Amino acid sequence: MVATVVLGMLCVHLLCFSGMFMLISTRLRGRKMGTDVFAIGSLLLGLAYVLQLLDAPRTWGLMSVVNHTLTLCAPVAYGLGAARFFDRPVSVVRPLLALAGGYTVAQVLVQAMLGSEARYALLAAACALLFVVMAVVLLYGMRTFARHLRAEMAVFAALIGGLGAMNAAKCVLILSGGLDSLDMGHPFQTAFYIYMSFLGTVLPPAVVWLVLHRLTDDLRVMAVHDPLTGVLNRRGLADALDAYFRSRPAAKAHLLMVDIDHFKRINDTYGHKAGDIVLRAVAAIIQRTARQGDLTCRLGGEEFVVIALDTDSAGAMQLAERVRDAIEHSEFPGVGPHGPIRCTVTLGLTGSFASMDALDASMQQADAALYRGKRSGRNRVEWAQAPEAPGQPA
Ligand code: GH3
Ligand code: MG
Ligand code: MG
Repeated sequence: MVATVVLGMLCVHLLCFSGMFMLISTRLRGRKMGTDVFAIGSLLLGLAYVLQLLDAPRTWGLMSVVNHTLTLCAPVAYGLGAARFFDRPVSVVRPLLALAGGYTVAQVLVQAMLGSEARYALLAAACALLFVVMAVVLLYGMRTFARHLRAEMAVFAALIGGLGAMNAAKCVLILSGGLDSLDMGHPFQTAFYIYMSFLGTVLPPAVVWLVLHRLTDDLRVMAVHDPLTGVLNRRGLADALDAYFRSRPAAKAHLLMVDIDHFKRINDTYGHKAGDIVLRAVAAIIQRTARQGDLTCRLGGEEFVVIALDTDSAGAMQLAERVRDAIEHSEFPGVGPHGPIRCTVTLGLTGSFASMDALDASMQQADAALYRGKRSGRNRVEWAQAPEAPGQPA
């Protein structure tokens, strides 16, 4: 009786969560993170348990075969959903259909050759194997593809590993005690369905938490990066520089302002899309040329800022020259109709500054230097007078 009630509630949970995952996936149009596949998994398992409720006496027939096939396909669907969540482009429908077809044939053969006990034991053994494999993959993920979700992976692995153990125990019980051990009144079935119900209640919200985790991480990254070039935007630059000055109060920085020369001509001659290609390529060159810890930002339009950290004025000058030279000697393919094109940049460079309060003043100084560089013929580096940061020598 207890097992039947728990099983009934489990059906309701699974079917509701299937609907919830489907709704969530419709909101995540471009990047569903496997939520549509989790919806399929929950639906399959929910339907399997509905059939189980209807097929209580465990008669051999279509309903029982479909029930077993759905029971095995559901965790595979969850596994495929998890693969999609971790950005593995796996297909879903074909593997599930192949498994459903293959397992249905296997069931019929086992039933014909070995009888019902063997067929039920086969399902429990297959589920046990599947859940153990899933738990091992999750543990492996803690060190590799899901390093940032270690705690979550450990909890999932423990819960799913537990389910593997329960299925293994079920298989042993069937082989040793026959199908009576599957009676809804049997203590093992009560324990099994209480555990399943616990998982059915806990795991779907946990998956929603992972999706939220990923979404908020993505939003945070988007909020501080320029979508066209992938380098920091103004806000990202300010945040990163603030963090740098906080972590190293005595540190200094140099600011380089980079502006593409005659960029409007590129747009006018080759079109806006070609201009975008050049912007992306220039951003990539600046990032490659700067040191790893330096901050590269697109201020807007065709203007970039690089903040050189942990260097002196000579180092900042060398960096500015390297950027200018690298861009002058780069060719941008796929832009013009007659082969690659080239462009140059002019840079304004400030002396050192040592606080966030001095950032605006440094920007203005670099901008003024840049303007001088433009008037002096472009494709050059122009020094600005070092700004006086409050309370800091320049
Ligand atoms: P100068 O050498 O004096 O800097 O001349 P310039 O042509 O580079 O400068 P100007 O400020 O006259 O033109 C900048 C152009 O950049 C104008 C604008 O249409 C273009 N622009 C701004 N943002 C984007 C963008 O996101 N994509 C593309 N393709 N063009 C952009
Ligand atoms: Mg320009
Ligand atoms: Mg400009």
